[in-house]
Amino acid sequence: MERTILLRSLSCSPLACSRLFSRSAHRLPAHSFSRSHSRPIPRGPCRRSPHLRRWRLLPVASSPYSSSSSCVRFSGRYSSLSARAVATPTQPSPETFGVSDGVAEKYGFEKVSEEFIKECKSKATLFRHKKTGAEIMSVSNEDENKVFGIVFRTPPKDSTGIPHILEHSVLCGSRKYPLKEPFVELLKGSLHTFLNAFTYPDRTCYPVASTNTKDFYNLVDVYLDAVFFPKCVEDIQTFQQEGWHYELDNPSEEISYKGVVFNEMKGVYSQPDSILGRASQQALFPDNTYGVDSGGDPQVIPKLTFEEFQEFHQKYYHPSNARIWFYGDDDPNERLRILNEYLDQFDANSAANDSKVEPQKLFSKPVRVVEKYPAGEGNDAKKHMVCLNWLLSEKPLDLETELSLGFLDHLMLGFPASPLRKILLESGLGDAIVGGGIEDELLQPQFSIGLKGVSEDDIPKVEELIMNTLKKLAEEGFDTDAVEASMNTIEFSLRENNTGSFPRGLSLMLRSIGKWIYDMNPFEPLKYEEPLMALKKRIAKEGSKAVFSPLIEKFILNNPHLVTVEMQPDTEKAAQDEAFEKEILEKVKASMTEEDLAELARATMELRLKQETPDPPEALKAVPSLSLSDIPKEPIHVPTEVGDIDGVKVLQHDLFTNDVLYTEVAFDMSPLKQELLQFVPLFCQSLLEMGTKDLSFVQLNQLIGRKTGGISVYPFTSSVRGKEDPCSHLIVRGKSMAGRADDLFNLVNIILQEVQFTDQQRFKQFVSQSKARMENRLRGSGHGIAAARMDAKLNVAGWISEQMGGISYLEFLRSLEERVDQDWDEISSSLEEIRKSLLSKSSCLINMTADGQNLRNSEKLVSKFLDSLPRNSNAASTSWRARLSPENEAIVIPTQVNYVGKAANIYETGYQLDGSAYVISKYISNTWLWDRVRVSGGAYGGFCDFDTHSGVFSFLSYRDPNLLKTLDIYDATADFLRELEMDDDTLTKAIIGTIGDVDSYQLPDAKGYSSLLRHLLGITDEERQKRREEILSTSVKDFKEFADAIEAVRNKGVSVTVASPDDVEAAHRERSGHFQVKKVL
Ligand SMILES: [Zn+2]
Repeated sequence: MERTILLRSLSCSPLACSRLFSRSAHRLPAHSFSRSHSRPIPRGPCRRSPHLRRWRLLPVASSPYSSSSSCVRFSGRYSSLSARAVATPTQPSPETFGVSDGVAEKYGFEKVSEEFIKECKSKATLFRHKKTGAEIMSVSNEDENKVFGIVFRTPPKDSTGIPHILEHSVLCGSRKYPLKEPFVELLKGSLHTFLNAFTYPDRTCYPVASTNTKDFYNLVDVYLDAVFFPKCVEDIQTFQQEGWHYELDNPSEEISYKGVVFNEMKGVYSQPDSILGRASQQALFPDNTYGVDSGGDPQVIPKLTFEEFQEFHQKYYHPSNARIWFYGDDDPNERLRILNEYLDQFDANSAANDSKVEPQKLFSKPVRVVEKYPAGEGNDAKKHMVCLNWLLSEKPLDLETELSLGFLDHLMLGFPASPLRKILLESGLGDAIVGGGIEDELLQPQFSIGLKGVSEDDIPKVEELIMNTLKKLAEEGFDTDAVEASMNTIEFSLRENNTGSFPRGLSLMLRSIGKWIYDMNPFEPLKYEEPLMALKKRIAKEGSKAVFSPLIEKFILNNPHLVTVEMQPDTEKAAQDEAFEKEILEKVKASMTEEDLAELARATMELRLKQETPDPPEALKAVPSLSLSDIPKEPIHVPTEVGDIDGVKVLQHDLFTNDVLYTEVAFDMSPLKQELLQFVPLFCQSLLEMGTKDLSFVQLNQLIGRKTGGISVYPFTSSVRGKEDPCSHLIVRGKSMAGRADDLFNLVNIILQEVQFTDQQRFKQFVSQSKARMENRLRGSGHGIAAARMDAKLNVAGWISEQMGGISYLEFLRSLEERVDQDWDEISSSLEEIRKSLLSKSSCLINMTADGQNLRNSEKLVSKFLDSLPRNSNAASTSWRARLSPENEAIVIPTQVNYVGKAANIYETGYQLDGSAYVISKYISNTWLWDRVRVSGGAYGGFCDFDTHSGVFSFLSYRDPNLLKTLDIYDATADFLRELEMDDDTLTKAIIGTIGDVDSYQLPDAKGYSSLLRHLLGITDEERQKRREEILSTSVKDFKEFADAIEAVRNKGVSVTVASPDDVEAAHRERSGHFQVKKVL
C-alpha cells in the first residue's frame, strides 16, 4: 500500500498532461512495478498503484519501457495474453442518467449541483448526505469499468505513520466480514479491474473497480464496511501485525521489530531518491502537516501506541470527513441506497473542521538542508545529489495559472529535448535528473529540480546552472516549435484519455479529489476544454514569452521560499541505522523482567498462531462472491485480420479508437550477433535522441511531439513454449491521429534509417543515465533484478533480458562508461551494425489498431513505408544459446530489507502446461506466501510467478526482513499443496479470481498490442479457449498434482537474493557455501 512522496525522478518521462489534469498520487515511485514489465505486479502484497498520475501514453521520444528497465519481457502470466476492450461511447445519452430529487430525498441526500461534463461524456451530480455531511460525486456515463472510491482527509501530526498503518489495517476484517483479510479474499475471488488503497501526505483513498455490476457492488460493500467498522480498532494484534511489534521467539534470543508497514518503510528509507523526496517535502513545509511523514519513519513508527491509532480512526474515518466517488454505467439510484445504509448509522461530527490542512507560510529567505543517505563502499566520488525546491504560493492558485504552470513545466522538462532537462544532462555534472518539476496535488504547488550522480565539488555548479538556465528561459522565452510540440502532446493525451490498465474513472476521481479535498469545486478539474482553449488563444495573441516569462520570474526566480537539499553518500549509514535499532532493542530487553520476556515470547507465539490459523469457512462465506455461472465461457475476442502488404505480414485490429491510429513495427532480432545484444537498449535510445543529418535531436524530438502522440522503441524478448530458441523483437510503437498517419510512418522511417550515431557526448549521457537508473532499480525493485538473474540461469530468453536489463547490463554500462572516450569509433560502428542487422523488409511485421476506415486508409502508407526498407538484412541468422552459470547468488547492496528469490524450470521435469496452473500459482501467492512471507514473516510482499512460455516457476519476496527463513517457506510449498484441504467455495473463488486476471481490462490499443504478442508467441484462439476451459474445471486434485511439479524448485531450484551485507553474512555462517556473494553497489 502506498503513500505518496513529493519528488519524482524525471527519468520516468513525466508528461505535463498528467500533471495538468491528473493531480493524482505518486511522485517518486518507491518501486516500479508498472514499468518493469518483466514481472507481474504482485497486486495483493503491495496494494498500491505506482504512477497513478502518469497516464500511460507513449512518452514522446523516450520509451516508457527503456526508461526503467531496458527491455521488455513477457510476464508469462496468462492475464497479459488476454484482453477486454472498451470503446468510448460515441453517443453519450446523458438524459438516461440521473437521480430524481425524490429518490435523493428518500435516501437522505440533497443535490448540491449537477453538470454534464463533455470532456468525459458524463453527467456528474454532487450530493450531500444531510445527516452527516458526507459528500458524494455520482458520475454516470456508458463506461462499463465502474469505479468507487472513498477518501478521508487524514493529516498526520507526527511521523509514526498512523494514516499508513490504518490504511493497511482497516482492510483486515470488519463487522460484517469478520475474517483476517477480506481484502485478500477479494483479490482471490473477484473480477475487480482495480483494488487498492493509497495513503497521501494528507488523505487516504480506498478505490475499487469492476466491469461486472454484481461484483462491483460486492466490492463496494466490503470497502464501506472496512473503513467504517474495521476490527482493527478493537484488535491490537492487527495493529501489531500491520504496524509494528516486538518479536521474541525465545527469551534467550534478541528482540526484533516486525510489522508490514515498518518493513515497507525501511525499504523506502533505503532508497536515496525517496530520502531526497522526503527531505525536500519536509524542509519545504516545516510548519504544517507535510513536515512529517504520513508513511512513517522506521525510527519513529515504534513510538506509536494502539490508543493513538484507535483515536485517529474514530476521529477521521467518519462520514462527516468523507468524500465518495461513484462512476460508470450502473444505476445512480442504487448508489445512494447503498451509501445511506452506512452513512445513516452516524451522526455528524467535527472531523471536517479538524482535518483541514493549514497552508505553509512563505519563507523570507532560502534554506539549505544537508542529508545523508546509505551508500555502498565503492570509491566513486560522483554520488552526491542536489535538488532545488520552491514552494510556489501560499494560497491555492487559480485554474488558469495552474494550467499555465503545468504547461510551462512540460516546456522546460517534458521531452528529452526540453531546455532545462537537456542543459542539465548535457552539462556532464550529474548522471540523471531528480525532482519532479511542478507538483500540484497538495494544497500548495511546488517546483523541484536537481541532479544526482554529482561530485561534491560540482554541487555549486549545478545550482548555478539551474538558476542561470531559468533566468535565460525567462529572458529569451521558448521556441515556437517547442510550444507547438508541448501543446500537441498535451491535447493528444487529453483527447485520447488513455489511462492504460488504470480505470478511466479512477484517473478522473484522483483529478477531482485533488481540489475537492481542499473544499474546492470537484467539477472544475474535470473540465479542461475551455481553459486549454483560452491558454492557446493567449499564446497565439501575446506570444509564449508574455505568458511564461512572468511565471518563471514570479514563482521561481523572485521567490524566496527556496529549499536546497544536498544529499551526501554515507557508507556507514546503513550500519549505523542498524546499530541504532539494535541498541534500542537491547535497552528494551534489558528493561524487561524475566516474566515480561516470557510474556513477550508467548505473545509472539500467539500472534503467529493467529496469523497461521485459517479463517473458519463461515467467516469466509461472509465475503460475497460470484458463481461460476456468472463467468463467460469464452475468452475475450480481439478482432484480428492477418494479411499481407508487399509480402510483409500485417495484423489489423478493427476497434473503435476515437480516431487514433496505433501501430507497432516489429523486427526480428535473431540476426543480431550475440556480442551486440547489450548495446540494444542504448541503440533504441539513440534512435529517438540523436538526430539526423538534416534534423538536430531537438528538432526531431519536436517534430515527433508536434505530429504524433508519441513514438517509442524497445526490445521485446520471451521464451516460446516448446521451442529452444526465444522470440526476440525490436518493437517501434507509435500513435497519432488517423489524419496524421502519414507523418507517423514518415517519422518512424526517419528514426530507423536516418538517425546518425555520431553524437559521442549524448551517447555518454545515455550510458550514465542508464547506469543511474539500473542502480536505482537495484535498490527499489531488487525482486525484479533477482528474478531476471534467475531467469538468465534457466533459459535463453531470460539470459537475453538480463544482458539488457539486469546486473550484467549494469556491469556492461559501467565498463562502457570508461570505454566511450577511447573506443567511440568502435561503439558507433556497433550501433550502425545493429541497424544493418535488424532493419529489413524480410524480418518485419506490422500491427495496427484503429477503426476499419482508418485501417484501410493506412494501408497505402504502410506500403510506402515498407518500400523504403532494405529488402534483406546483411546479417546471417545466428543462434543465442547462452545462460548464466547456475550457482546460487547473494547480491549485496546497502539496504535494510531483502529481496529473496528461488526458481526452477518445471517443464524440464516433465510438467505439461494445464490451465489449472494459473489458478494454483495465484492461490499459492494469495494464501501460503501471503500468510507466511508477509503476514507472519513481516515482509512487504511475497509471491510466485509461473512463466508459461519458458516453464520457469519462481518465488520472490519484496522488502523482506528475512532471508533463509523465506527460502525455507518456499521449499515447503509442495507440502502445503499436498496437505491442502479446500471446500468448493474456496475453489470457486480461486477460479473466478484467475478469470478476473485473464480477462483483465484493456483499452483498445492494449487489446491490439496483446494480440500482436500472442501472434509472435504462437498462441492461438483455440489454445486460449482450451486454457480457459482448464481454468474453469480446475479441481483440488490438480493442486495436489502440481505439488510434484513445483517440488523441482526445492530440489533443483536456483536462488538469487538481493540483500544487506549483514544478512548475507549471517546466512553464510548458517549455510556455508550456499551462495556466491556478489557485491554490486
Ligand atoms: Zn503500505
